[in-house]
Amino acid sequence: MKRSQAPTKKATRQHTKQHNARLVLKTIYDAGDVSRADLARLTGLTRATVSNIVAGYLDKGIVAETGVGPSIGGKPPILLSMVPNARQLICLDLGSEQFTGALVNLRGHFEQQISLPVNGRTAQAALDLVYELVDQLLSHVTAPVLGMALGSPGLIDADAGLVKQSVNLDWHDLPLQQLLADRYAFPVHIANDSHLAALAEYSYGNDDTRNLVLIKMGQGIGSGIVLNGRIFYGEGFGAGEIGHVSVVADGEQCSCGNVGCLETVASVRAMLRQVEMAASQNPDSLLATNSPITWEILRQACQQGDATAQQIVTQAGDFLGLAVANLVGILNVNRIVIAGDVAQTGDLFIGAVKNSMNRRVLPKLAVDTAVQYATTESNLVLLGASALILSQGLGVI
Ligand SMILES: [Zn+2]
Repeated sequence: MKRSQAPTKKATRQHTKQHNARLVLKTIYDAGDVSRADLARLTGLTRATVSNIVAGYLDKGIVAETGVGPSIGGKPPILLSMVPNARQLICLDLGSEQFTGALVNLRGHFEQQISLPVNGRTAQAALDLVYELVDQLLSHVTAPVLGMALGSPGLIDADAGLVKQSVNLDWHDLPLQQLLADRYAFPVHIANDSHLAALAEYSYGNDDTRNLVLIKMGQGIGSGIVLNGRIFYGEGFGAGEIGHVSVVADGEQCSCGNVGCLETVASVRAMLRQVEMAASQNPDSLLATNSPITWEILRQACQQGDATAQQIVTQAGDFLGLAVANLVGILNVNRIVIAGDVAQTGDLFIGAVKNSMNRRVLPKLAVDTAVQYATTESNLVLLGASALILSQGLGVI
């Protein structure tokens, strides 16, 4: 519903105050250490306003006076910086095999990490496992909790805090945010796990582009789209469902009910299935000596130069490149980031993606588009959760 009344003066004043406070904190966060005079210069706010806001953060312990800067005549200025351990963030990643949680500080540093196996739990049992994970993390907390964020596969309405559909966990229209907020006394955010992974690469990666698409390669394939520094959720929070774009006309049946989806030919699951088939046809091959086939076996076979293994991985990359070409053609995003264990195959996979994309997009777009593996460490979903809390709670990201 659109707002029908103009905000009151008081509301506007409150909003400006909050905006200024966030601007000051973000400037301190970005600068590392900075004097009050420089803060006023960088933010365009008056010295008095800056001093007032800084006093508030000093009171809360989020900012501290940490040294003195060089004098430019007169008294040397006192430097301010953010206290990384002043608050802790509770970050959760509901993976298909295990639920992982971490306590993270204000600089994205992991302080405690716990994983609990899912063992096929669904519905209420899966929810109870989330509670158990959070309870365990809370027993290790050493600072006030700023907030909690959780990434889950599936269709997540991040605004309403609703898991609209998570097939693996058998959650449908589950008001997860409210359930968690009722149980724990801090702000809670939920989002799709691939969306959070994209936010992590955007916030912590070593590149300053404002737009990127991160493709999460695993048993399935998902992606997160960051446009102009913000996650693009899509009208129904389903943006980036790249695993279910069609790449093979009249292809195999997909779990979603359609045929020829990217997931059926390029996911890790699809690659392993192809290896099983190839191995059964050629009992003497390197791959046939191992059963069941795991990703690790496929990776090693590629490394040892097994032609069948390499061809399967290259073909998966080729299909992904086709989907990427369509993405680039539509969005003109010039940074495509691939995350997941496929990175272990190095150039073999990503080279195939690039070749395939280059053959299918306008030459100028091909030149301008970088296709690369994620530059941030693993735990992308947890890192993205921390970025979401920092962005919502403090406005520093
Ligand atoms: Zn599908």
